[in-house]
Amino acid sequence: MPCRIRVLSENTINQIAAGEVIESPASVVKELCENSIDAGSKKIVIEIQGGGLHLIRITDDGCGMGKDDALLCLEQHATSKIYEAKDLLSVKTMGFRGEALASIASISKLTLSTSEKEIGTRIEMEGGSIKSVSPYPRNQGTTIEVRHLFFNVPARKKFQKSPSGCSAEITKALTQLSLAYPYISFTLHQNDTLAFQFEKGESPLFIDNLKKRVADSLGEGMRSAVIAVDDQEGAFLLRGILGAPENTRHNRTGQYLFINQRAVISPLISFAIKDAYGTRIGSDRHPTYVLHINMPCELLDVNVHPQKKEVRIANEEWIRQSVRKVIQRHLDKSIQILLEKQAPIFSDFSLDEPAWEEPKKSLIERILPYECHLREEVQPVKAIELPMEDLAIYPIALWGNYLLMDPKGLNANICSPSDQGLCFVDIKSAKARVLFEKFLLSKVDPCHKQGLLFPLVVDVALYEAQHLLAMMPLLSAMGFSLSQSGPRSFLIDAIPAFFPENKGVDALLEILCQTISLDTEDQESLEIKKTRKIAGILCKYIQTHTMINSIQEATLIVKELLRCDSPNYCPQGNKIFAFVSNKYVAGLFISKDR
Ligand code: ADP
Ligand code: MG
Repeated sequence: MPCRIRVLSENTINQIAAGEVIESPASVVKELCENSIDAGSKKIVIEIQGGGLHLIRITDDGCGMGKDDALLCLEQHATSKIYEAKDLLSVKTMGFRGEALASIASISKLTLSTSEKEIGTRIEMEGGSIKSVSPYPRNQGTTIEVRHLFFNVPARKKFQKSPSGCSAEITKALTQLSLAYPYISFTLHQNDTLAFQFEKGESPLFIDNLKKRVADSLGEGMRSAVIAVDDQEGAFLLRGILGAPENTRHNRTGQYLFINQRAVISPLISFAIKDAYGTRIGSDRHPTYVLHINMPCELLDVNVHPQKKEVRIANEEWIRQSVRKVIQRHLDKSIQILLEKQAPIFSDFSLDEPAWEEPKKSLIERILPYECHLREEVQPVKAIELPMEDLAIYPIALWGNYLLMDPKGLNANICSPSDQGLCFVDIKSAKARVLFEKFLLSKVDPCHKQGLLFPLVVDVALYEAQHLLAMMPLLSAMGFSLSQSGPRSFLIDAIPAFFPENKGVDALLEILCQTISLDTEDQESLEIKKTRKIAGILCKYIQTHTMINSIQEATLIVKELLRCDSPNYCPQGNKIFAFVSNKYVAGLFISKDR
C-alpha cells in the first residue's frame, strides 16, 4: 500500500496557522500594531483601503530591524521576545509566539521596510515566498504593507464581512489598542481619508492620559459621568474609569478590560465588577468601564488563546474579591460626591408641578355585544390611522392591558380551541405585532415622525459612529431623524410617531449594539436582518411603554392584528390570545363537596 500520510509543507503549515491567528483584516491590524507597540513605538500610523482587504499599511517609529533580523522575522516561530518555555511566565510583550508575520505573509502580498539606524532593508513577499530583498533608505522604524489579503485562500476570503463591516472591526480593534496604550499616538486613514488621530498622552499620570484617550475614542458620553479609579490592593493595581450607575447598557459593549495592557475577555472579572455595582443597576443592565488591571506576570497565563483574547489567572478568588472591593470602595465614595454635586439641581424643580393622572376608566367597561365603529371623540393611535373596511368583532370589555372579547369574530388565522368561551387579547403585544409587521413591510409612513422640540444627544464610540452613519437611511425609513453633530455625536430630532420620547436614546443605543455585529456579504439579506432587528427593538419599547386608553382603541388594534401574517405571537415570542373555555367557567360553579 502506498503511504497515505504526508508531512505538510512549511507554507501549508503557515497557512493553517494563519487560519487561527488571522481571522480578518482586523486581526492583521491588531497583530501588526502589537508588534509596533512591542518595538517601543510612540507613533503608529495605520492606512487601509477596501476595509483592509486591498491594503493595510502600518508605519511605526519603533526600534526597527537590521537586515538579518528582517529576514528572520518572516519565518514561523521566529521571535525576539522569548528564548525558552519558562520565559512564557514572564512575558511582558504583546507577542511571543513568533507566528504572526509568517502567517500574514503566507496569505498575502507583503512588503516589509525597516531600518535600525543605518540604511534600511526592503523585503517583498508573495504567498509566503521571498520575491526580493534590497537596501532601502528610511528613518528608524518599520513599515509593513499587506496587499490582497487572503488572495490564495479564497475559502477564507468568502467568509469576510463587507468592506465597511471590516473597516468598523478595524476601528474597534484600534479603539481597544489605543485604550490599552494611551501614551502612544494612533492615526487611522481609511481610503485616503483621515478617520482619526489620537495624540499621545503627555501627562506623567496614566489615569490622566487614559481619561483623555477615552474622551477621544469613546466620546464625551463615557467621560461625563465617570468615576476615576487609581488604587492598589496588595500586588494588584487597578486603574481606569467606571461609568456612573445611570450610564449602563443593555449588553457588554461598553466594557473595556485590560490585564497587563492586553485587551482580554474575563467572565470572572466582569462578574466581579457587576457584583460591585450591586443593586445600583438593574439585573439586566451592564455597567460601562475602561479598566486596567496590572498584576505580577507569574499570576497570569497568556498562552491559552490563539489570538490571546483570553487569559488564565492563578488565584482567581483573590482577584475576584480584590476587584470587587476596590470598585465598591470607589463607587461608594464617588456616588456620594456626585450626589452632593447634583443637590442644587434638585432644588430647581417645582414641587407644585401637577401630578400626572392616569385616565379614569371603570375597571370593566361593559359593552355587550359591541360592534366597533370609530366614534368621533375617540382618537385612534397614529400608527393605525389607515382606513379600514368594517370587520365585525365582539369586544366585551377592556380590562387593564387585556381586551376581553367573544371569540366568534376571530378568523381562521387565530389558533383557538373549539370550546371557545371567552377570549383575552393582550393589547400591548397586539399593538407591537401590528407595528412590527408594518415596519417590515415599510408601511409606516416615513413622514410619520414625531419632531422633538429639544433634540436628544447620543454620544457613541468612533467605530460605532461609523456604523450609525451607514445605518442612517434605514433608521430614517423607520422614523428616526438623525444628524451627525461631531465625530462621535449625533442629534436625534425626530423619533417614530408612536414611540415613547424618553426612550429615544436608549432605543438607538440598543439598535446600535444589536446591529453592529450583523454583517454578511449579501447586502440584501443584511438589510432585511437589520430591519427585523430594529423593528423588534422598537416594538419592544412600544410594548413596554404604550398606554391603551379605551376599548375603541383596543378594538381597532385587534382588527389590524387580524390582518397580520402572524397574529398569534408578539415580536418577542409571547402569546397574544388566551382562551377560557365554557367548560372551565361552568366548572367554577360546581361545589367540590357535592
Ligand atoms: P512575535 O510578535 O510573537 O514575536 P511576530 O511574527 O509578530 O512574532 O514578529 C516576529 C518578530 O519580528 C518580533 O519578535 C520582532 O522581533 C520583529 N518585529 C515584528 N514587527 C516589528 C516592528 N514593527 N518593529 C520591530 N521589530 C518587529
Ligand atoms: Mg507579534
